[in-house]
Amino acid sequence: LSDPPQVAKAQRAAGDHAPTIFSKILARTVPATVLYEDEKCMAFRDVAPQAPVHFLVIPKQPIPRVSRVGPEDTEVSLLGHLLVVASRTARAEGLHDGYRVVINDGKHGAQSVYHLHLHVLGGRQMGWPPG
Ligand code: C5P
Repeated sequence: LSDPPQVAKAQRAAGDHAPTIFSKILARTVPATVLYEDEKCMAFRDVAPQAPVHFLVIPKQPIPRVSRVGPEDTEVSLLGHLLVVASRTARAEGLHDGYRVVINDGKHGAQSVYHLHLHVLGGRQMGWPPG
């Protein structure tokens, strides 16, 4: 018989490791407008843009969410790489007056795709605080 807390834990873990739509974008079986790609990550336009410029930067390694990033140097340096790519791609997109970088994590963060991604939004004045 299964112990309910263990089942809940397994279900959470299964959800965390399930391939998402972003794996298909990485495999190019789902189309996306790709702005940048290297061996570690990809940047592509958000399909439902919330600003004149709205793109996502995702690691090729399917880390489900930022709160699951481990202490390993490779994962820590990967996070830095994603930010540098976000910044360079923002410049290439002409966001010279600034932009917003957002990572949604989990339920309260309103995360909907469980493959780590940085949102970069720009081309208009952002408000604060976010909703
Ligand atoms: O941070 P969160 O998980 O809520 O955001 C997921 C983002 O992925 C959304 O902004 C959504 O528009 C985007 N998306 C996309 N292409 C898809 C599916 C989702 O750009 N095929």
